[in-house]
Amino acid sequence: MKFSKMFIPTTKETPNDATLPSHQFLLRAGFISQTGAGIYDYMPLGKIVLDKIRAVVKEEMDNSGANEVQFGFVTPLSLWEESGRATTMGNELLRFKDRKNSDYVLSPTNEEAVVNMVKNRITSYKDLPINLYQIYTKFRDEARPRFGLMRGREFLMKDAYSFHSSTEDLVREFNLMEETYKKVYTRLGLEFRVVEADSGAIGGSGSKEFHVLASSGEDTIVVCDSCDYGANIEAATRKPNAKDKLETIAIEKIETPNCKTIEEVSSFLNADAYYSMKAVIKNAIYENGSKIAVFFVRGIDELEETKACNSIGALELEDANEDDIIKAGLHAGYCGIVDLPKDVLVVVDSELKNDNNLVCGANEENYHLKCVDLTSIEGLKFADLISVKEGDTCACCGGKLSYTKGIEAGHIFQLGTKYSSAMNANFLDSNGKAQAFVMGCYGIGVSRLVAAVIEQNHDEKGCIWTKETAPFTVDIIVSNSKKEEEAQAGENIYNELKQAGVEVILDDRINARFGFKMGDFELIGFPYAVVIGKKLADGFVELVDRKTLEKTDIKIEDITAKIL
Ligand code: ATP
Ligand code: MG
Ligand code: MG
Ligand code: MG
Repeated sequence: MKFSKMFIPTTKETPNDATLPSHQFLLRAGFISQTGAGIYDYMPLGKIVLDKIRAVVKEEMDNSGANEVQFGFVTPLSLWEESGRATTMGNELLRFKDRKNSDYVLSPTNEEAVVNMVKNRITSYKDLPINLYQIYTKFRDEARPRFGLMRGREFLMKDAYSFHSSTEDLVREFNLMEETYKKVYTRLGLEFRVVEADSGAIGGSGSKEFHVLASSGEDTIVVCDSCDYGANIEAATRKPNAKDKLETIAIEKIETPNCKTIEEVSSFLNADAYYSMKAVIKNAIYENGSKIAVFFVRGIDELEETKACNSIGALELEDANEDDIIKAGLHAGYCGIVDLPKDVLVVVDSELKNDNNLVCGANEENYHLKCVDLTSIEGLKFADLISVKEGDTCACCGGKLSYTKGIEAGHIFQLGTKYSSAMNANFLDSNGKAQAFVMGCYGIGVSRLVAAVIEQNHDEKGCIWTKETAPFTVDIIVSNSKKEEEAQAGENIYNELKQAGVEVILDDRINARFGFKMGDFELIGFPYAVVIGKKLADGFVELVDRKTLEKTDIKIEDITAKIL
């Protein structure tokens, strides 16, 4: 491919809302173009990278024995009513009506669609197991689409769904998917960690997440320094016994005089809830000097409720860093109440009717404060609520735990019979008895991975693509394309590298100066540049390593061997 023939609109402009390196560089280097909130187009370089990642995912899924299918991007709402998720998915599920006034949704995930596909087609245990996957567009009407491809509303996901006649067989496939995912991330050249996770809105029992390690990651994960143990902080903080008890309390609506007034909290919440959450927490830490905050929210919408209930967070403010506290509060929902005397739990029960852009109108009707003196709850010790802390040695081999940041790049779930039972999807077992399919589901954020590669691999000049993800491996930079001999040498090396199977782009732009071409190379982040310039007369070109920016003079005849 030649630069002169490719649409690569690089720019020096950084959009105001682009805070993460991947967001800035992918826009500036001409990989993506934003058309709406959380909606991006892929320009030629972006499309190449997306397809490369997609190809690795497809190859490893095919190797695992899964079958590729494609579900409609649009599914009738009736399927979601059957599973019960029409009411539990909340506002992330984008619904619309067609001209006949029938209800549809843009698929955010496809458990319903796959059950519909398999139901009545697989009827015997003899036809199990089966794993069906697709790599296709998803739409989630995220409350806060941000960070470019990292949290889009429209995005590309690989989603797979497996069907089994027993839980043992599901566990076998779950483990196979874990190994398959590890191969994918390893091939993409990423440093990652597999962690225990909560199942969130998807449901089911066991689940594991795959995190690309990067300081910009939205998730905090707890990892052990001596073994493979890792857990998302949401899963690590969860203590099942305490959780059950707290849910009971919330329903009982116990009131005590220890709470802040509704007016006080409302004044925080009348603003954008995201920032007000920060304000509430900061106020607690710095002004009130609180030592303990507990966040628990129910009833914002069903999705948030699930998340909140799964992520009851209790933190000792003195020990936790500000980011983690804010994160815990945000994860729990839209508000936490602070200024807590020790051993007092405060619950905010918020029923937001309108959480568009998280601007909410709080009033006495939709916020109820509940304070609970924990000592009054039989058998519940405050220690039950305390999260895993850095430096703890609990959880696994006795090694020390530490916090790190991760980008959730994949998530696998043991669903069990949640969807098959709800949708009445059965097979006949070896005794001729009807049983609900035992299911698993497995997601990889393909478009999020484009951004994750750059979060993990960049410098102040731009992107540094890994070998498997680079749009081209080598950029041949002709310093001055008006010079016949330089242009010709560029063509020759280009043809030779292409013949050797190297993915190569020739910067043959007549009117671009050397500095500009070099700037584009650094911004776009091809792994190597071959610079044809002054030393050509002596038979040398310069090889530039994008990662180290190291330059080496190489004899023209050695260049292919050097790159291969
Ligand atoms: P998150 O916690 O980041 O919102 P999730 O847990 O809701 O993600 P899953 O339902 O587990 O996401 O979906 C499987 C994968 O799809 C995720 O692991 C992630 O890589 C990707 N993904 C989810 N939401 C988005 C999004 N809004 N934009 C891009 N990728 C996403
Ligand atoms: Mg999500
Ligand atoms: Mg998640
Ligand atoms: Mg997830």
